[in-house]
Amino acid sequence: MEEQIRHRKDTVMIGDIGCYALGGAAPLNAKDLAVCMGDSTFFHTGINSLTDVAYNGSNAICVILDNRITGMTGHQDNPRTGYNIKGEPATLIDVETVVNVLGIKHVRTVNPLDLKAMKETLDWAFAMEDEPSVIITKWPCILKKYSKEDKAQFNLDKTPCVVDADKCIGCKKCLSTGCPALRYDSETKKSSIAQADCVGCTVCMQVCPVQAISRKGDK
Ligand code: SF4
Ligand code: SF4
Repeated sequence: MEEQIRHRKDTVMIGDIGCYALGGAAPLNAKDLAVCMGDSTFFHTGINSLTDVAYNGSNAICVILDNRITGMTGHQDNPRTGYNIKGEPATLIDVETVVNVLGIKHVRTVNPLDLKAMKETLDWAFAMEDEPSVIITKWPCILKKYSKEDKAQFNLDKTPCVVDADKCIGCKKCLSTGCPALRYDSETKKSSIAQADCVGCTVCMQVCPVQAISRKGDK
């Protein structure tokens, strides 16, 4: 994913404070991407800007992280958390429907934990010459209190992953994911995963070139 983003040096990255803004730091160095916001930001103010983008036909890629939480700024409920301001269950407002209503013609929803699908979706968006596109990455944040919709729509298995030290060749590709659960021992030249910190997202599994990473309990 890092390589996917890094070679596009002419792209301006715009975003507010959020986990995604921190993607501009190493190891992701993703500052070249595009407009990036969480679902809470989208419903707070991003929707206004996207209206302008749609109306003016701007050549912009807007990535909306539909992670159903107000993450770094306080975990307040928003139209994607499934709870209203009183903490009561509430019906979600669908991001894709709103984007379609604004008149954006090129919209894709993708599982952000599927790196192949993410790469294909970014290629699709960057190939768009002069029309706006929207990518909605849909997966609930690991920190949120899951709503009934979250539980119904996603496989939220958090079984951690493990590294088979016999297979690990010490290439450090897994570290490029930026996941804080990953450790690298410079003496043994092997990676490992802190079990208490791993949420079983499988992203590191997908980048390991020798299949040294698996879910705990899997063969
Ligand atoms: S499975 Fe996900 S959370 Fe666990 S170590 Fe790999 S990238 Fe980190
Ligand atoms: S990507 Fe795989 S082989 Fe490379 S360091 Fe990580 S676990 Fe080891």
